[in-house]
Amino acid sequence: MQPTFGPSVPLAPAFIPSSVYALPDLDALEAISTGQQTGFIYARDNHPNAVQLEQELARLENAAGAVVCSNGMAAIGAVAMATLHQGGRVIASNFLYGRTTQLFFQEMTRFGVEVVGIDTGDLTAVRSALADNPENKPTLMVVETLSNPLLATADLPAIIKLCNEHESLLLVDNTFASPILCRPIELGADFVIESITKIIGGHSDITLGVVLARDVATLVRLRQVRSIWGWMGDPFPCWLALRGLPTLRLRMLASCDNANKLAHFLRDQPGVSRVIHPSLSKHPDHALCKKMLGGHYGNMLCMELAGGRAAVNRFFQKAPALKFCPSLGDYATTCSHPASTSHRYLDPAERERQSITEGLIRVSVGIEPWEELAQAFRVGLES
Ligand SMILES: *Cc1c(COP(=O)(O)O)cnc(C)c1O
Repeated sequence: MQPTFGPSVPLAPAFIPSSVYALPDLDALEAISTGQQTGFIYARDNHPNAVQLEQELARLENAAGAVVCSNGMAAIGAVAMATLHQGGRVIASNFLYGRTTQLFFQEMTRFGVEVVGIDTGDLTAVRSALADNPENKPTLMVVETLSNPLLATADLPAIIKLCNEHESLLLVDNTFASPILCRPIELGADFVIESITKIIGGHSDITLGVVLARDVATLVRLRQVRSIWGWMGDPFPCWLALRGLPTLRLRMLASCDNANKLAHFLRDQPGVSRVIHPSLSKHPDHALCKKMLGGHYGNMLCMELAGGRAAVNRFFQKAPALKFCPSLGDYATTCSHPASTSHRYLDPAERERQSITEGLIRVSVGIEPWEELAQAFRVGLES
């Protein structure tokens, strides 16, 4: 028996873990299967907590619809599987998230997809990669709004214009910006993915992803791919994500504000040889980022310690409040070490080229009161 509430309505959304739904008759099953009627049959195909989360996220990103997936990589996989065919082409940024790079360069190439890597910050390179397509292969371009860890900013309006001119689809991984700072669908991107695991989740207790699409027709295909490959997100993480969504704006804006302060603060600290954050006027994408992210610069920054690896170890030991963990987007400030985590498997020459040194710490700035945050860094950096 389902509970009844009389005339009352629970204020919190219901959590519905059911993996399967009972149907009154064959006609009902038919109507739901063909999409004539909303309803649920089997949770791998669809379930109410996913639909609720999708509606909220689609609204936030101004998308035609959203498709929740079990994690960010499943979301990227779903776009790849829904859009690519043998003989198709991917133009990918050279600075994508490690697993995304592997998904395209190692996995999709096994299926006869040509994958070209370019510096998408160089619009001339973008234009010539798009134009260099004599067989007119269908193309998917893949970029990240803000790159990891150096926070290169993709010039989305310019890239979208070029993609339109060459009839290429565009997938934007917006995980580092979140829909609070950037809504690439509004700018004309075809697909956006977000790793909900990170900023949108915000409490390090969810593994989930989402694809947002500009066009209703592609949503049908994305949902089909999700079901076939088993990439649906479970009800509980969907419910948790829904629970955190109303505070996303507050969390993101507070984190960005702290990150701006921290970037400027760290520049003057002893032992810090370099600070990377787009709020600093010397960051190569300062102006672009300011314009594209509505005057914000994100909550991620990097600091380089002059003392290299030994100094990084000392910093982590002295400042245990700044948790060392290889993720991002928690409400609390966390640190990671790209050279030994996200960029571990790059060959050393490439790491050098991207200036990912042994002294580089990536900081995911949280929402602590500023003075508390500054003090934690002061203590960590004391000699
Ligand atoms: C973490 C991350 C992903 C993958 O998301 P998961 O939820 O861990 O699968 C993709 N892109 C970026 C930029 C990320 O930071």
